[in-house]
Amino acid sequence: MPTSPAVPDGFIQALIDALGPASVCVGDAIEARHQSDWSGAPAVRPLALLRPADTQGVAATLRLCHAHRVPVVPQGGLTGLAGGAMPQADAVALSLERMNSLEAADPAAATLTLQAGATLQAAQEAAAAAGFQLGVDLGARGSCQIGGNLATNAGGNGVLQFGMMREQVLGLEVVLADGTVLDMMRPMIKNNTGYDLKHWFVGSEGTLGIITRAILRLHPAKRARMSTLVALPDYAAAIRLLRLLQSTFPGALAAFELIWEDFFTTSLQWSQTASPFGQTYPFAVLADVTGNDEGTLAESLQTVLAQAMDQGLVLDAVLAHTQSQASALWRIREASAEFPVQMDPINFDISLPIEAIGEFAETCIEALSQRWPGHKSLRFGHLGDGNLHLTTDARSLGDAAEAEQASHELQALVYELLARQGGSISAEHGIGLHKKPYLHLSRSPAELAVMRAIKQALDPMNLLNPGKVFDL
Ligand SMILES: Cc1cc2nc3c(=O)[nH]c(=O)nc-3n(C[C@H](O)[C@H](O)[C@H](O)COP(=O)(O)OP(=O)(O)OC[C@H]3O[C@@H](n4cnc5c(N)ncnc54)[C@H](O)[C@@H]3O)c2cc1C
Repeated sequence: MPTSPAVPDGFIQALIDALGPASVCVGDAIEARHQSDWSGAPAVRPLALLRPADTQGVAATLRLCHAHRVPVVPQGGLTGLAGGAMPQADAVALSLERMNSLEAADPAAATLTLQAGATLQAAQEAAAAAGFQLGVDLGARGSCQIGGNLATNAGGNGVLQFGMMREQVLGLEVVLADGTVLDMMRPMIKNNTGYDLKHWFVGSEGTLGIITRAILRLHPAKRARMSTLVALPDYAAAIRLLRLLQSTFPGALAAFELIWEDFFTTSLQWSQTASPFGQTYPFAVLADVTGNDEGTLAESLQTVLAQAMDQGLVLDAVLAHTQSQASALWRIREASAEFPVQMDPINFDISLPIEAIGEFAETCIEALSQRWPGHKSLRFGHLGDGNLHLTTDARSLGDAAEAEQASHELQALVYELLARQGGSISAEHGIGLHKKPYLHLSRSPAELAVMRAIKQALDPMNLLNPGKVFDL
């Protein structure tokens, strides 16, 4: 079996002895998909790819890595957009993909217990089979894993109703850098017994521990869900419509996705479909409301949209009456999955107070147009969460030789504008590798010092995902 010269003596054999040969890959046996993630960074082959089958396998792996001083890069479904799961040549990649057991859904407690390598979609299906729903949903659901969702504190489409991934977790099992298994698998909602340690690991992007199992909260499933696509004249109308729908459907507005005209037109071009409105408008909102009776829901939605039209708030609206119509509307918004295929994307995942987003998005486009006339930038956002996604095609910034320089300049420009408004450089995707140079724009020196102290306490040898989020 070929091994890299950097591998410590006996290390690979010790891993094989501990995990079995099927769980240890080196050299050409490491599949290409484990050598990069969705963020588009150039591929790197790790020292070895490890695929343990259970918590004890993860603990044995970390004990060995600790003993041999070998860094570890945790990998979930590799759909992260910040480069957090990007392997390093001097580190092993630790994939959770074999740890995908959906252990138990407990209807009485309204919880789902599962291994961290289960995909979000599998967890959603298990929740549905038990008569419940999970609080988090996002476009990468078929590939991303619960462990990755927790490690990035993922958001997505359901945040408005149920909060981010942090709000879904009741219990967690984590393996620390030295192989210690930290069992926090307690299903209680109330538990004020000192520091709530599990929250240190949520959003830590694999730098503090490996998440191996979780107990997630389940929410009662609604029997009916209706999607509507609404055309709007301006940003102010979007905020007014959000508040109108929230007050009409208290606690039942499940999604409110704002789509700027640039994104809308491009999405239709890529899918070669016609606008459901027959034309385009400055803004469109894709909203989902939930309830228990489809007829009542449709009637209420039609009434409130008719009122909004009378007030000039809404210019046009399309209501999905079947699941396939709803999916067709959602396909417009989920064209973001095509970014890496259709563009060389530079992604911004920004959050700001909701009232500031419209003007900020315009200011950004004006500043970009001044510097790079003809740039291609697309905007959409989870508006209810104050989260704007702006994506620029690096190829529209000039010739390939200058692409990297232009990308840095673009990020500096956008993040400087954002810092002036006190916004966050990452609403939901995390910092990983790509946003590390800008973290100081969203976190104070005192906050960064506390983060480093926590990292130092849990991983003094800096073996877990080193170089991600911040440098020590
Ligand atoms: C089409 C598409 C749509 C998306 N939409 C959204 C969205 O709406 N909202 C959103 O928040 N994100 C979105 N994302 C980003 C991505 O899906 C999320 O960040 C997701 O949570 C990553 O999960 P993953 O399993 O793929 O993690 P990976 O990409 O494999 O890893 C992400 C980070 O978590 C760490 N990690 C992974 N598993 C573990 C573990 N078990 N223990 C410790 N650390 C671990 C990795 O080291 C890395 O730092 C989208 C991505 C795509 C491609």
